[in-house]
Amino acid sequence: MFELNVTHDPKRRSWLASANEPGTPFPIQNLPLGVFLKDGQSHVGVAIGDRVFDLTAAQHFNLFTGDALIALQALRVGTLNALMAMPESFASALRKQLSEHLVQGSGSQTMMTALSSSLLLERASLQMVLPVKIGDYTDFLTSKYHTERHGRFKGLKDPLPEAFKSLPIAYHSRASSIRVSGTPVVRPRGQYKDASGALKFGPAPMMDFELELAAYVGQGNELSKPIALKDAALHVFGYCLLNDWSAKSIQWWEQVLGPFLGKSFMSSISAWVVTSEALRPFRSKPQPRGAKDPACLPYLNDPLDREWGGLDIEVEAFISSEQQRASQLPAQRITSSHLKHLYWTFGQMLTHHSSNGCNLSTGDLIGSGTISGPTDESRACMTEITEAGKKPLMLSSGESRTALEDGDNIILTAWAKKEGHVSIGFGDCVGTLLAAQGAAELDV
Ligand code: CA
Repeated sequence: MFELNVTHDPKRRSWLASANEPGTPFPIQNLPLGVFLKDGQSHVGVAIGDRVFDLTAAQHFNLFTGDALIALQALRVGTLNALMAMPESFASALRKQLSEHLVQGSGSQTMMTALSSSLLLERASLQMVLPVKIGDYTDFLTSKYHTERHGRFKGLKDPLPEAFKSLPIAYHSRASSIRVSGTPVVRPRGQYKDASGALKFGPAPMMDFELELAAYVGQGNELSKPIALKDAALHVFGYCLLNDWSAKSIQWWEQVLGPFLGKSFMSSISAWVVTSEALRPFRSKPQPRGAKDPACLPYLNDPLDREWGGLDIEVEAFISSEQQRASQLPAQRITSSHLKHLYWTFGQMLTHHSSNGCNLSTGDLIGSGTISGPTDESRACMTEITEAGKKPLMLSSGESRTALEDGDNIILTAWAKKEGHVSIGFGDCVGTLLAAQGAAELDV
C-alpha cells in the first residue's frame, strides 16, 4: 500500500530547471493535481516547478497510454472527482507516465519542449479554482494541546473531554462555503456576548484562523458498510491545507450542539491536491499513546496504522497586516507545528467516521482539526497564541493583535520532509479578512 516506486526516487530530476531548484514545493517527486481556468473552461493541471502541465490540453496529443489514458479521460469534466472514484492504480499510472515525460533525459524531452508552449503554463499567471466537487465536509478535533488550551480558557475543570482519548471528535461542517486559496473572507455578523456580558448582534469580534490539513476521500463506502482501519488509507486520494476560519465570539456563545455559524461563513483550502501516492515516502509512526491513556478499542487499532499511520508534515502560519504590507515588511511567522502532534491518524478519523455505517463519498473533505503542539511556537490559532486575548501578539509593524483585524492576511504552508527524500510542498493557503458587509440595520 505504501511501497515506493520510480516516481519517488530522490535522485530523479526534471529537464524543467525550475523543478530542480532547492525550495520549490513542486519537484518532480510531487506532481500535485489542481484545476485552473483557461478561456473560461476548467482545466486539470499538475504543478511542476514554476509551471503547470495542462492535462486537459494534453488530451489532444498522444502522450499517454493504457490506464494513464483512461485516467486522463476521467479528468475531461474539469474536476478530479471521477479520477478519485477510480482505484488508485489509474491515478498512479498517470503519475508514472507524466513523471517519465518530465524526467531529465526523457526520450520525449524533445517533443515535450516543442509542446511546452501549449502544455506547460506559467503557474503564477493561472487562476486556480476548487479542484474537487466537495459534497460533505467534516472537521475533526485531534490535537490534545489545542483542545486542552481551549478547555483551560473556558475554565473547565477537566480541559480535555473524557471522550477525547477514546474516539476522534468531530462535527459536520459546511461544504458550500469552502473556497480556494486567494479568496478573501468577509467578517461575519452574528450573535455574541460582549466583554460586559451584554448580548449583541453585529460584526463578530475575536476572528481567528485555524491551521489544519485535510484529506480528500477517494473511493467512498456504501451506507451501512464501515471502512476497516487496515483499508482506510486506500480511501484517501490526497491532502490539502485547510484554514478553518472561526468567529470565536459567535462559536463560544452558540456552541451547545456543536459549532454552527461561528464556522460556516467560509473555509479556505489550498489549490493543489498532494496525492497519497506522492506522500508515501513521508509515512511515519504516529506518536504513541500515553502510558496512562485508555486502551484503543479494536476497531481503531491496527498494526499497519500504528506503524505507518502518521505523516512527516511540517505546517506554518504567517500573518501580514495592512500596515506590514504598506511598510513592505515580510509576512511574519506566527506558528510552526507538525502533524505528529495529532492524537489520531487520518486513518482512524475515516474509520471512526464510517463506523456507524455513515457513507463517505468521493470528494468529501476531512479536516484534521487545529494542528497545535505542546510548545508556544506550535500554537496554531490566535486564541491559543494570545491566550484568549490576554497576551497580545506583537507584530513587526509595532501593532498588536488579540484577534484578527480587517485587512489581515493569513498564509498557511505545509511541507512533507524526511531525511533521504526530496521535500515536497503543498503551496500556500491564503486569505485576507475583509470588513463585514450588509445587514448593518440589524446590528445592536
Ligand atoms: Ca477546526
